Amino acid sequence: MQFVDLNAQQQRIREDIDLRIKQVLDHGRYIMGPEIDELENQLSEYTGAKHTIACSSGTDALLIAMMAAGVGAGDEVITTPFTFIATGEMIGLLNAHPVFVDIEEDTYNIDASKIEAVITEKTKAIVPVSLYGQPADMHKINEIGRNYNIPVIEDAAQSFGGEYKGRKSCNLSSMAATSFFPAKPLGCYGDGGAVFTDNDDLAAAMKEVRNHGQSERYHHPRIGINGRIDTMQAAILLSKLSIFQSEVELRNEVAGRYDDLLKDTELKTPFVKEHNVSVYAQYTVRTSERDKYLNTLKDNNIPTAIHYPVPLNLQPVFSYLNQGEGSFPVAEKASQEVFSLPMHPYLAREDQWKIAEVIKAV
Ligand SMILES: *Cc1c(COP(=O)(O)O)cnc(C)c1O
Repeated sequence: MQFVDLNAQQQRIREDIDLRIKQVLDHGRYIMGPEIDELENQLSEYTGAKHTIACSSGTDALLIAMMAAGVGAGDEVITTPFTFIATGEMIGLLNAHPVFVDIEEDTYNIDASKIEAVITEKTKAIVPVSLYGQPADMHKINEIGRNYNIPVIEDAAQSFGGEYKGRKSCNLSSMAATSFFPAKPLGCYGDGGAVFTDNDDLAAAMKEVRNHGQSERYHHPRIGINGRIDTMQAAILLSKLSIFQSEVELRNEVAGRYDDLLKDTELKTPFVKEHNVSVYAQYTVRTSERDKYLNTLKDNNIPTAIHYPVPLNLQPVFSYLNQGEGSFPVAEKASQEVFSLPMHPYLAREDQWKIAEVIKAV
């Protein structure tokens, strides 16, 4: 059993992928080839965002969005401590400081009711993370952003395909950043990502940042990065996008089966708010006796993972913030109690039955 089985998906679309790769080899435009425009158009159509700019990774997507928002040395960026390192890391890379806000107990997303209290004159952006595939409380966060004139950048690396009140993740705030890392809900065969916005000026800025701050050839009004996506990866994503919505539905079926199978166990299954659709980037459960479960699952060759065992405030790289243990009790407790089960659209019922049996036997 695999934690994420990319092979089952590949079998479904292998011919189309082969064909699209061949087309790239034939036209030879490996950098900024025609597949990238096509992908960006389709991603805009899928999410509803006016502008999509595909780029080199989810990490670079966060960097591009924050650079376009003007985040720089000494600025503050509000985010959650319960996320993958990249969210805080890109804030630090720009010599800005992450300002962490604790999470909601049930969704593990940033607690929007605690954001306003940490806004200062230096706050340059709010970066909520739509963790495990479920959008954060975007309405409330956008309202705060509007009131203080601060852009909201959704870290949608795990939530592409998710929905909030009938709108797709990546189209919920000023800007959004997603990842096409192979194991994400929509993944390519290498690194890739994208940024999204409805704002023409931010879109132009992000386009420039993606390509060395270039506005036209060899004319550079700003500092940028080499943040382009490979044409080859765009071609692969076009193929994968054609079956993606059906995979979102399959993921929800898999999650629904887990919910049923585990409802009488002591594991706390994921909570998805009524107005949200999760894309279940992870199926993450919770228990105060995590080690016991992890060991037994391991003994039965069932792979698991912990997202995430150390909140960012306790990472050595952010120790300079002096927010040690006890600073964010909800996130810190979650980091000690959560673990994720195998999750992908093609996970067999039989495998889920086996997982549930092993869990029940603990
Ligand atoms: C995966 C992930 C990223 C980084 O994406 P990459 O494509 O791996 O660079 C950023 N934020 C979150 C929440 C992620 O899960």
